[in-house]
Amino acid sequence: MSEAEHSSIVRDMIRQVWMRFLEPDQVIEVRILGARLFENARGNTMSGYFNDQTPLIEELAKYPHYDGIYFTLNPIDPRLLSRSENRIQDAKSGGSTGDSDVSSRRFLVIDLDPVRPSGISASDDEVVDAANKAEEVLAFLDGQEWPDPAIALSGNGIHLLYRIDLPTDDAGLVTNVLQALSDCFSDDKVHLDTSVGNPSRLIRLYGTMACKGDPTDERPHRFAELQYVPNSYLPVSHRQLREMAALLRPDRREDLQRVPRAVNALDVPQWLDSHDLEVRSEKPWKGGTLWVLEACPWNSAHTNGSAFVAQFPNGNVIARCHHESCQGRGWDELRQMFESPKPTSGQEFATPSNTSPAIQAAFRRAANQKRTKR
Ligand SMILES: [Zn+2]
Repeated sequence: MSEAEHSSIVRDMIRQVWMRFLEPDQVIEVRILGARLFENARGNTMSGYFNDQTPLIEELAKYPHYDGIYFTLNPIDPRLLSRSENRIQDAKSGGSTGDSDVSSRRFLVIDLDPVRPSGISASDDEVVDAANKAEEVLAFLDGQEWPDPAIALSGNGIHLLYRIDLPTDDAGLVTNVLQALSDCFSDDKVHLDTSVGNPSRLIRLYGTMACKGDPTDERPHRFAELQYVPNSYLPVSHRQLREMAALLRPDRREDLQRVPRAVNALDVPQWLDSHDLEVRSEKPWKGGTLWVLEACPWNSAHTNGSAFVAQFPNGNVIARCHHESCQGRGWDELRQMFESPKPTSGQEFATPSNTSPAIQAAFRRAANQKRTKR
């Protein structure tokens, strides 16, 4: 990738962050870990406060080499701007944004990170695992009537960014929601990070690279990039958050079975039967049901039980085939094979970076989950 292409990605993504995420006059802290002017120089932690995207883009251009660049997503005390106004400088001890500097919570970040040794970038397959997991979480929360989140590649995994509107001191609600979701969805391949619930949490700045370890063919450095931001970006209600935290508590896990099924929930066995999709086996799955198909609907040569359809107790459905050639195919594609396409909504961004086709396909499927629902 040329330097010009690189800087145009940085510019576009930072503009999107500014336009779609931040409030008017919001101040953010931007922190660069391992900042260095030359590839092999010793890295420094640098920091600055910004209320304008133009100087931020100019300042970032001065540091072509870094481990990672992060920003504060929630609104912070605008007076902190005077610490380092629209410029990057060496981070001073005690000069970083604390929880008490945050004025409110505006985002619930669901960070799905592939399980791997620390200090290395994820492989493409691992990012696809995270995207598959994101699709499950999206389908479940969509079934709980949560509004649409923004969806982003974090560089090594996936971010689902739900809007919320809570005070800084939320009595642990955000952390409890993350813990509940992690209990339900984390597995040995993908981890739902429960440590990102503090209000002053920094997340990777979209448009910058995740540079964990050395970039190799198998484990490349990738851009963090926004893939989808809904046109009407509405907050999840307090009630929905409280219900989620309570619903998934370990001692109430069996209550998942009793989640009221949406009245218009699809009768999956009947749907499969009416479209001649034979079921090999059926098993309980996250409080709902999973049906393993006799043959893959997208490639009839896949007959080793690789394809399945699963339904959450709230009625929402996902579908997938484990074969590599079926990456990117999901419930949306399956429905469209038999039914007419649904109208789309929301805004999608072009994929400007060097991600693999499998990752792009997995993303598209996760975004389609939102864009064509109901
Ligand atoms: Zn298949």
